[in-house]
Amino acid sequence: MIKDKILSKSNQFNYYKDNYFRLLEENKKIKEDLKKTKKNHNKLKKNNARLKKQNDILEKDNIVKNNDFDLLKPYVLESSIENSDLKFCPVCGRPTEFVPAGITKRKNALCNKCKAFERHRLFFLVLLKKYNHIFNKNIKLLHFAPEKVLYNKFINNESVDYYPVDIDPENFAKKNMTIRDKVNMEEIPYEDNKFDLIINVHVLEHVHDDMKAMHEIYRVLKKGGICFVSVPLSGNYETLQKPEYNTPELRLKHYLQEDHVRLYGYDIKDKLESVGFEVKQYNIDSLTSEEKVWELYGLHNGFVLFVCEK
Ligand SMILES: [Zn+2]
Repeated sequence: MIKDKILSKSNQFNYYKDNYFRLLEENKKIKEDLKKTKKNHNKLKKNNARLKKQNDILEKDNIVKNNDFDLLKPYVLESSIENSDLKFCPVCGRPTEFVPAGITKRKNALCNKCKAFERHRLFFLVLLKKYNHIFNKNIKLLHFAPEKVLYNKFINNESVDYYPVDIDPENFAKKNMTIRDKVNMEEIPYEDNKFDLIINVHVLEHVHDDMKAMHEIYRVLKKGGICFVSVPLSGNYETLQKPEYNTPELRLKHYLQEDHVRLYGYDIKDKLESVGFEVKQYNIDSLTSEEKVWELYGLHNGFVLFVCEK
């Protein structure tokens, strides 16, 4: 009898003991699952915040898209960039990404959405922030070698009598652009004092007699009119131009591109002044000293725009 009792107690003990260890094991598993769930929850929370941020940007994108052709409205979001890595293109007026481009694969060169380069963004910012008043009346605008991204801004604008011109008009048909006249900048086929505004972005470095071209630009600009000029700059004062750099290979080596005929220095300002212009020199620092804003537009002080007034 006693032996049976002891045996029974022992069985009971083993039963509870097994149960105890089984429950301990299950508890451990539940704790691990809970940890995993918490981790997942945090991940989802982070993902959610990221999606919300993207959504906010897209909403802003939509708002500015609706006003795409309103030249008078500067699309600047400078007040809202404090803690953001947002990039914004002033030409297409949209949040964007700037991707590397150019021979040297410059960082932040090209707007991923409208293909505007740094020079176009600086030009457009200066135009919007400093010279917006030009568009308060109907104007005649002469645009040399028009870039599609800028052409699209002006071609359908009712207050702009637009003259997109080039020395090789046939090059533009494939880009779906209509060139108004074939124009050689050294002999511009228009009367004196015709235009309120002239855009000359990265063209003079291709022109053989640039002084003659500058005289011509001055001639066809109205008194009080403005001409925007930018060229690739070496960073030196003096322009580099030598008769012996006369092959595509040598031009590429010394002037950065096979069809450039010189590499300008900052003395281009003196040249422009010598034909009669009053010249102001702008870079992004002239618009704002906030480096966060430079980053917003993907610009730095190496990019220069000359604003020539007659
Ligand atoms: Zn853009």
